[in-house]
Order: sequence, then C-alpha cells, then structure tokens
Amino acid sequence: GLRNSGNISYSRALFAESFNRLLSTQAGGKLQDKVALITGAASGIGKTTATKFINNGAKVIIADIHQQLGEETAKELGSNATFITCDVTQESDISNAVDFAVSKYKQLDIMYNNAGVPCRSPQSIVDLDMALFDKIMDINVRGAVAGMKHAARVMIPRGSGSILCTASVTGVMGGLAQHTYSISKSAIIGIVKSLASELCRHGIRVNCISPFAIPTPFVLGEMSQIYPHVNSQRHADIIHNAGVLKGVYCEPNDIAEAALFLASDNAKYVSGHNLVVDGGFTSFKNLDFPAPDQVQ
Ligand code: NAD
Repeated sequence: GLRNSGNISYSRALFAESFNRLLSTQAGGKLQDKVALITGAASGIGKTTATKFINNGAKVIIADIHQQLGEETAKELGSNATFITCDVTQESDISNAVDFAVSKYKQLDIMYNNAGVPCRSPQSIVDLDMALFDKIMDINVRGAVAGMKHAARVMIPRGSGSILCTASVTGVMGGLAQHTYSISKSAIIGIVKSLASELCRHGIRVNCISPFAIPTPFVLGEMSQIYPHVNSQRHADIIHNAGVLKGVYCEPNDIAEAALFLASDNAKYVSGHNLVVDGGFTSFKNLDFPAPDQVQ
C-alpha cells in the first residue's frame, strides 16, 4: 500500500509551489528574468514545470494545442505566464510561438519541447499501423525537432540558451511500451545528442529528461482503457507500484525539478545528456536465481 494517495500528494505539491511563489517574489530564483517557452504546458508535466519556472523567477510562454486548458493554466499561474495556441505538428505555430516570446520579452533563454501523446498500437511489429506511426512521430518527434530548430534560430545569435525535451524510460529500454511510442521517445534521446554536437559551438546546451510512468491525464486515459473496471485511484496505484524505488513514487514535480536544474545555470556544463528520473528502474534487473537447495 502507498502512504499517500496520488491526489493528496499532488495537491500538497501544488500548495508548496504557491507558497514558494510568495517567497520567490523577494528572493532571486534560479531562473531570475529568464524567458522560457514550454510546449504541452496546459497539463501534466509541462504545467508543473511552468509553475516551478515561474516560482524561480522566469517568464513562461505556455504553448499548447488545447486552448481552453492553456488559457486557464496561464490565468492560474498569473502575470508571468502567457498562453499561445500551438500545434507542434505545424511548423508555423512553433515559429510564431518562438517569435512571440522574443517580441514580448526580447529573448528566449529556455525552450522545453515537452508536448507529446501516448498511443496504443499493436504489440507486434508485424501488425504495426504505419499511419498511426506517422501520426505519433509527427507530434512526438517532428514537433520536438521543429521546436529545437526555431529555438536555435533565435538562440544562436545570442550565443546562449538551454533546450530541453521530454523523452521517456520507454526510449531508454525496449519492452516498456509498444513500439511506436517507444521508438518516438528513443528518437528524442538521439536527436538531443545530434543537436548538442552542433549547438555547443554557440554556447547552447541541449538535454532531455526521461521520466518513469507518472499518472498524469495522459497516462490515466490510457489506463482507463486497459482497466475500465477500476477507478483512477487504482490506476494511479498500479503505476506507482510498478516503480522499483520503494517508499516514494515518480511525480510531475520530480520532472519539474530535473527541468529546473537543466534549464538553470547550475547545469552550465551539462549538455547532450539524458537525465533519467526513474528511481533506478532502467539501470538494473534483479536476477531471480533459484536458492541453492532448490537446484538438484
Ligand atoms: P499530459 O497529457 O498531461 O500533457 C500533454 C500536453 O501536451 C497536453 O496539455 C496536450 O494538450 C499537449 N499536446 C498534445 N498534442 C499537442 C500538439 N500537437 N501540440 C501542442 N501541444 C500538444 O501528459 P504528460 O504526462 O504531462 O506528458 C508530457 C510529456 O511527458 C509527453 O511528451 C510524454 O510523452 C512525456 N512522458 C510522460 C510520462 C508519463 O508517465 N506521464 C512518462 C514519460 C514521458
């Protein structure tokens, strides 16, 4: 059993964030006066990260395809948050969002390509749905590449910047998701290394974060299709119990902390890195050898 329900813990984290915001108005935050653009920031990991960035002194552009949710989120986060409608599959939307950040705040310091969608494709490669594959790659991979392209466009002349992406443990190891999603996330890890190799010459750092499963709306939606007979609290418990590090579980705030580190000057010498936030899950497999007295 878990000590906390996901919801209680989640609201506690949000309360702590509000409290930190009061403090950060006086003290200089880790992202003081930096300008960040976060895609997929209307919900989940992106929203939690936007909140944390603002609490650390940043101005944040929330770029999301979901207009109503994005506007509500920006309102909730206050005057340092601005919403712009952005479908990451439309290069012009990305380009506009980047230009909007620069025209509003004169610069773009942090670009976090976080928008992504889950998918339920057939388990076997033999049955792979190529049209669905294209659709997922369009959002999860092409969308992130477009974000990096346009961020680089405005960061190169300034000779600085931090570009982030959300990859996943499913991109680190095989067998954690069906192929299409897993492939889309492993691509992100490769793209980060490829772009870091060029952008290092311009003082721009490029990194990604690979979270373990977190019961965000995205994942809970998937779970309700797999386990329609139980409620979302049970869905969250199943995800939490799949983690290997006991006594804690992976939360949006853990990813926001990783993003804060990578975006800030504290990570000034970190580039081309995939920061895995999984409690060790992808680092080991505990061998289950039979006990000596069971081997004849
Ligand atoms: P979420 O559904 O809560 O948030 C995703 C956001 O992306 C939503 O606000 C959605 O409107 C937006 N979005 C979707 N398509 C878009 C598009 N075409 N253009 C712009 N915005 C779009 O999910 P989340 O869990 O916070 O996911 C964020 C990222 O984290 C995704 O890239 C996901 O693949 C990744 N991730 C999630 C988990 C997890 O377990 N939750 C684990 C590893 C990686």
